Amino acid sequence: MIQDMIIHFSSIYGKRIDDDVFEAYYQTLKKYSEAALREAGYQCLEDLTYYPKPVEIIKRIKSEYGTSANEDSIIRSDVRCQTCGHIGEGIQDPINTGIWECRNCYTGLTPRKIRGRFNDLFRMMGNKDYKPEWA
Ligand SMILES: [Zn+2]
Repeated sequence: MIQDMIIHFSSIYGKRIDDDVFEAYYQTLKKYSEAALREAGYQCLEDLTYYPKPVEIIKRIKSEYGTSANEDSIIRSDVRCQTCGHIGEGIQDPINTGIWECRNCYTGLTPRKIRGRFNDLFRMMGNKDYKPEWA
């Protein structure tokens, strides 16, 4: 996605960037979602007459998603939990400004308890009378 965006920018602004510069864009932008990057990329095309720097793309992502009411958290794979250091699926809440946490730290539940709750939820769907003590 980042690569596509850079290729678009390069053809629109008539400027090629070399591999080192591409790497800098990639490293600074890779933590943002594809949807956020796409939207910010289009905004740059509308607003700027020059090749957007990463900061200009990020600024648009933050203003767009910082005020968004319908998407206030984001889940991504391969992130490091800023609470326990575990690398895996992480949740950022609120989006862009919150810290990344793994499911355990975010919910305060152990993996075993999370699995237990899912099992309970499935049981509740199949049996209206079943109600675990946490529900
Ligand atoms: Zn954690």
